[in-house]
Amino acid sequence: MLTIEKVLVIDSVKEMIMESTVVLDKTVVDKLLFAYDSEKSVLAKSVLEKIIQNQEIARTENIPLCQDTGLVVCFVEVGRNLHFDYDLSEAINEGVRRGYIEGYLRKSVVAHPLKRVNTKDNTPAVIHYDFIPGNELKIHLAPKGGGSENMSALKMLSPADGREGIIDFVLKTIKDAGGRPCPPLIVGVGIGGNFEHVAYLAKKAIFRQIDDASSVMEDRLLEEELLDKINKLDVGPMGLRGATTALAVKVESAPCHIASLPVAINLQCHSARKKEVTLYGKKA
Ligand code: SF4
Repeated sequence: MLTIEKVLVIDSVKEMIMESTVVLDKTVVDKLLFAYDSEKSVLAKSVLEKIIQNQEIARTENIPLCQDTGLVVCFVEVGRNLHFDYDLSEAINEGVRRGYIEGYLRKSVVAHPLKRVNTKDNTPAVIHYDFIPGNELKIHLAPKGGGSENMSALKMLSPADGREGIIDFVLKTIKDAGGRPCPPLIVGVGIGGNFEHVAYLAKKAIFRQIDDASSVMEDRLLEEELLDKINKLDVGPMGLRGATTALAVKVESAPCHIASLPVAINLQCHSARKKEVTLYGKKA
């Protein structure tokens, strides 16, 4: 029987929290640098410069990239040969708890949406599970900012609305949001599935590598067209106009009902914090 020690899960999650909230991944920094070089607007360029300087200061002085240190979202892939004699969600949440407390990170979670009492340790995380062949446990983790999450949207389109309907909805959502989701953005778009699955797809989309492209041709073409059109909206960095509204667009699709065309948009701000770890099962 293969397993992974609970303490290893806890420590890995804690370390991912403490690192991802402080160090912006190089692939995102490279995109920001490229946008800075390409941007024509003086004001947009200066905003991008501040964002780039901000991540440098965060990394070198070991302080959070943003005061909003997010609500933790995890996509967990569990190898089918693994066995756990403990509650995996509990272990992940213990890692979150330790990461936010030991990292002196802002605690941004309330226990009930109406009572609004802070849980004081940033738990619980939102955790999605999937099963994969083999002996590995992969944890993909993102401390997700509230500002960009609030500007995300979902709509049940009619199949007759088609591709144009999707594009119009994405563009309207981003135009209406303006500076509030803290652009430049990574735009996750889910299409298909049903009401709850399409939101899952949009969230999963923002976990992709910033410079990859969909392996589904239809989705890949949509990603390219949306990125081009979003960057012509003139929203710009932090909503102050310019050609850099989005750094990337990711589309994830799924089969759906003949009567439906669900679309969801999950916005990721420029503080695009994300980490992943692979743990390997050992004999118990
Ligand atoms: S949306 Fe992102 S950049 Fe804006 S305040 Fe929240 S975490 Fe920070």
